Amino acid sequence: MFLSVFEMFKIGIGPSSSHTMGPMVAAARFLDLMRASPFTFAGVRGSLHGSLAFTGVGHATDRATILGLAGFKPDTYDHDAAETMLETIRSTHKITPPDLPTLDFNPKADLKFDYGPNLPGHANGMILMATDAQGDVVLKETYYSVGGGFVLTEHELQAGDQKTEDAVPYPFKTAQEMLSMAERSGKSIAAMKRSNELALLEYDKLSSGLSRIWQVMSDCIERGLSRDGVLPGGLNVKRRAKGIYDALQAERGTNQSAPHTINDWMSVYAMAVNEENAAGGQVVTAPTNGASGVLPAVLRYYLDHVPGASASQIDDFLLTAAAIGGLIKENASISGAEAGCQAEVGGASAMAAAGLCAALGGTPAQIENAAEIALEHHLGMTCDPVKGLVQVPCIERNGLGAVKSVAAASLALRGDGTHLVPLDACIETLRQTGADMSHKYKETSLGGLAVNVPNC
Ligand code: SF4
Repeated sequence: MFLSVFEMFKIGIGPSSSHTMGPMVAAARFLDLMRASPFTFAGVRGSLHGSLAFTGVGHATDRATILGLAGFKPDTYDHDAAETMLETIRSTHKITPPDLPTLDFNPKADLKFDYGPNLPGHANGMILMATDAQGDVVLKETYYSVGGGFVLTEHELQAGDQKTEDAVPYPFKTAQEMLSMAERSGKSIAAMKRSNELALLEYDKLSSGLSRIWQVMSDCIERGLSRDGVLPGGLNVKRRAKGIYDALQAERGTNQSAPHTINDWMSVYAMAVNEENAAGGQVVTAPTNGASGVLPAVLRYYLDHVPGASASQIDDFLLTAAAIGGLIKENASISGAEAGCQAEVGGASAMAAAGLCAALGGTPAQIENAAEIALEHHLGMTCDPVKGLVQVPCIERNGLGAVKSVAAASLALRGDGTHLVPLDACIETLRQTGADMSHKYKETSLGGLAVNVPNC
C-alpha cells in the first residue's frame, strides 16, 4: 500500500471530491477508453447510482460528469469556460471531447439519476456508455468514486490494490508498523513518508508540489475570508466566515477577547474553505472536499497563532497528515457515502492533529496518539447533508473538526505517547461502524438533519 501525498491532497473544485471531482475524473477516464478503442462512436450516455443519484443534484454530479465528458479536468478547471460549454451542450445536444468526434448527448435524456439499488461495488457508482450510429452501446464501463476524488473501475475494485510495496523503503500498512519502522530507523513519520515519496518522485517535484498544495489551501482561506453573499443551491445559507473574521480582527489587540476566542479563529479558517467549496471554488482534498477545511485551518492556526511557529514545518505537517490519511483510507474509508462523516471530517481531524503534533515536535508515538484522539471522538458521526448540499452540517463541522484536532494534538503532547486505544483499533472501529451504519446516514440525505430541518 502506497498512497502519495499528492493522491491524498489533490487540487480540484467544489463542492464534493466524491460527487463532483470523482465523476469528472471518471468521465475523463472514459474518454481515454474511447480514444483507445477501435470503434467509431456517435453518442455517449450514462447513469448515476446510489449516493451519486440521491445527492447528485446538490453536489452538481450531473454537471461535473457532463463537463468531464466534454474534456474538463478538476486540476485545470476554468469556471467561465465550463459555463459556456454547458450552455452549448444544452442548446445543441452535442458534445465534442478533445480528440474524439462530435457526439450526440442530450443532458436531460442521456444522463439518468437511477434511484434503485446501489451498484454492487460501492455506494457511489456510475456507468458510462458510448454508442454507434445506430444508437447501440459499443463501449461501457462502470466506475466507482470511492472518496477523496479516487476513482476505480469495476475491475480495479475487484482486483484490489496491486501497487508494489517494494518500491518504497517504509511500506507501513498499519499504525503499528509505522511506529515500529520509526523506532528501528530513528526517523520521524514525516521523514519516512518523505523517503517513500522520493523513491518515486524527484526532490524538486516533491518540494514544489508541497508548496503548491499549501499555496492553494492558503489562497482558498483568503478568498473565503473576503467574500460575502449567499451560497448557491437554494438553502439560502449565508457566508459567515468574512463577518466572523472581520469581528475577530477588530477585537485583536483590545482586551475584549475571551480566551475561548481562539476557537473562533480555528473555526473561521475552516469555514472560509468550506464556504468556498460549497460555492464550487478551488480547494484541495484533505482528504475530501467536504472535509477540506479542517487541515488548512489547523495549519494556518499553527503558523499565525503559535509562538515560535515556522514555515519550515509546513512540509512535515503535510507529509505526516498524509501518512495518517493513507492508513485511514486503506484500512477503513475516507468516504461519507461509505462510512459516514466519521470517515471524512473524522479522518481530516486525525490527519490535522497528527500534522500539528509533528510541527510542534511530537514523537511518532505522540503523533499516533494525537491522530487516535481526534478520530476516536468522531466515531459514529453520520453524513446527513441538508438538501444534499455540502453546507449544513458540513461548513460548521469542519470548524469543530479543527478545534478537536488542536485539542487532540495538545493532549497528546501532554503525555509520552503511551495510551490505551491504538490508532489501528480506532480505524478498525471506524470501518465496522461504517459498515453497520444505515444507508440513511451515508450521504443519501434520507435521514438525520436532512429530514429534520424544517422547510428543507
Ligand atoms: S456531512 Fe460530513 S461526510 Fe457528509 S457531505 Fe458533509 S462533510 Fe462530507
